[in-house]
Amino acid sequence: MGHSEKELGLTLVKDGLKWPPMPEFASPQEERLHRKQRLAAAYRIFALHGLESGIGGHITVRDPILTDHFWVNPLGVHFSRIKVSDLVLVDHEGHIKEGHHTINAAAYAIHSSVHRLRPDVIAAAHSHSRFSTAFATLGRTLPPISQEACSFYEDHALYDGYDGVAASDSEAIRIANALGSKKAVICRNHGVFTVGHSLEEAVFWFIRMERAFEQFFLASSVGVPVEIDPATALLASRQVGSHQSGWYSLTPLMDKILIEQPDLLD
Ligand SMILES: [Zn+2]
Repeated sequence: MGHSEKELGLTLVKDGLKWPPMPEFASPQEERLHRKQRLAAAYRIFALHGLESGIGGHITVRDPILTDHFWVNPLGVHFSRIKVSDLVLVDHEGHIKEGHHTINAAAYAIHSSVHRLRPDVIAAAHSHSRFSTAFATLGRTLPPISQEACSFYEDHALYDGYDGVAASDSEAIRIANALGSKKAVICRNHGVFTVGHSLEEAVFWFIRMERAFEQFFLASSVGVPVEIDPATALLASRQVGSHQSGWYSLTPLMDKILIEQPDLLD
């Protein structure tokens, strides 16, 4: 590359896009603070999109130091008001190790099982949002009808059961098993869980899946959406459904929230 040439941003490479490198941290403490700041921002992003659902819904992020512990939102604080100092550190069993608030321990069970059974998962997101809960009533997976939907092609599962509000440990384990190695699971008559190798990825998949469900409903209300053929859907899923794609795609929203709502860092 000559001096006069600037490196291009996103470029198409074989089977995907070339993404910018992920951040590196000088210490685990620095990474912990980064994850907490991003988690508080993620709750604000959910609120901005109307994805919050009363006292339900959680986004959890694995602690980089105590790797079997997770940061989660305080019970009863609206997502739009959550700050870094409100976040609660919880172990696998739901014991609070740090923080000034209580948590929704019942709902936390599913996140705990997902994090325990998927050591590669850094973050998980779940909320009873409008379109995800509506789609979950259908007891089916998302067809590849758009580029957004292709992000989840052969990379999401259906948990075809429902045991009531407070998920038991056994149901939590069944949901985590249904998720398997995929990025999302649709839980019939309940809603959706998305996961990621970064906080940003789990949050972005939730937002993108909500959009794909909305597309499905809008299109289905006036006709029968055409499904993308399997080979093309698989190609598109590799192009727009990678861990790096999910991570980087949240950047504009993350930057907007961090600039517009700096009190979240308190
Ligand atoms: Zn739920």
